[in-house]
Amino acid sequence: MPKCPECGEEIDHLNHYQAVTVKYIARLDAQGRMDYEEKDRTGGDGTGQYNCPKCEETLFATDAAAIQFLKLPPPMDEIIAEIERIRTLLLPPAGETVTQEDAASAEEALDRLADKLKGKGEPE
Ligand SMILES: [Zn+2]
Repeated sequence: MPKCPECGEEIDHLNHYQAVTVKYIARLDAQGRMDYEEKDRTGGDGTGQYNCPKCEETLFATDAAAIQFLKLPPPMDEIIAEIERIRTLLLPPAGETVTQEDAASAEEALDRLADKLKGKGEPE
């Protein structure tokens, strides 16, 4: 998962803000209060900003930059940690054997690793 360059937190999405104008039909209801009925939205021309969902710092101003960021591969330390977990499960110390559970855990870890390395950036 990419990390926010401002706060360092891992983030899997961005908050997108876009200015739009909303047209409402404004009427008085039976109690004499204003009642707003949304009719239309204009604007939203693609300009806006993308913020970190954790710290709300503005990170990107364009779709292209935001897309590129979200496609970032996982950091190498995450990949190495996953490989180490798999190694520990499949290559136990001398005298110990791989249990069914360890093998199943290793398979899950391999699937997670594969998901981390593919998926993002691949054509749908
Ligand atoms: Zn942040």
